[in-house]
Amino acid sequence: MKIPALAIHGGSGTAPNSIRDKRITKIYLDALQEALEAGFYLLKHDHSALETVAKAVSVLEDCELYNAGKGSVFTANGEHEMDAAIMDGKTLEAGAIAGIQGIKNPVLLANDILHHTSFVMLSGSKAMDFAKEQGYEFYPPSYFFTQYRYDQWQAVKGSEKIKLDHSHGDSTFGTVGAVAVDSNGNLAAATSTGGVTNKKWGRVGDSPLIGAGTYANNKTCAVSCTGYGEYFIRGVVAYDVSSRMEYGGMSLEQAVQEVVHKKLKEMGGEGGLISIDSQGNIYMPFNTEGMYRGMMNDEDSFTQIL
Ligand code: ASP
Repeated sequence: MKIPALAIHGGSGTAPNSIRDKRITKIYLDALQEALEAGFYLLKHDHSALETVAKAVSVLEDCELYNAGKGSVFTANGEHEMDAAIMDGKTLEAGAIAGIQGIKNPVLLANDILHHTSFVMLSGSKAMDFAKEQGYEFYPPSYFFTQYRYDQWQAVKGSEKIKLDHSHGDSTFGTVGAVAVDSNGNLAAATSTGGVTNKKWGRVGDSPLIGAGTYANNKTCAVSCTGYGEYFIRGVVAYDVSSRMEYGGMSLEQAVQEVVHKKLKEMGGEGGLISIDSQGNIYMPFNTEGMYRGMMNDEDSFTQIL
């Protein structure tokens, strides 16, 4: 059975040298496996695709290796500003959060925005008032501190450089996302990120923008992106995949190939995406050296980096 099914990513980019170390590779892959199992368990117990993607992403947010939640990168001010979004393909309802601080699981806050407000996106310090109302605990900066991300920031601190997890050279992976189809054929997508190291002026990437980094529509597909956010925003990538199916009659496979390997490449945009349709077909193309990714259904399951 190809449905229910779940796919997840832990960011695209160039493999860090440490990934050549089999022990470290295993830790990254184990975290993906844990997220897949937690999400698939829900799918098998009649939970919705929406609940599933929230769960899978929150597991990865709790893993300090990924650039989301606990492992988020540092801004130019040495802070952590996180973005996340979630979308329900059945209702087209969505929730998104940008530039949030101190929240352990931004994807759950995005999910609460979807369920408990008439808005789609909240941002910055004012969004904290909503989080407080919802009873969220605020975590101190020490919770989000990791030496690895701190060192990455130190290497570019004070310069105009942002450190993308996607550019060539000494770069790593990080942003996380999930797409799922449940037993009723409903689709959902979620994405969460700390953004790019040394970002400033309240920079927001594609991840929390519905249609750019995250999109789901039962008519077509669910998509979660990872890559150089500015290109994904300008290319309206997630919605473009869906539109090519809806209006251009393409299959999901054709649509993602065109967008990732042609359109984005021509624009100079590095990255990848995970995608699923209501039949449980999964495609996870990327135009970078690698992308942490994994999928699970009743027939098949794997986690991969390169
Ligand atoms: N797309 C994210 C951003 O630009 C970063 C990433 O995928 O790693 O904020």
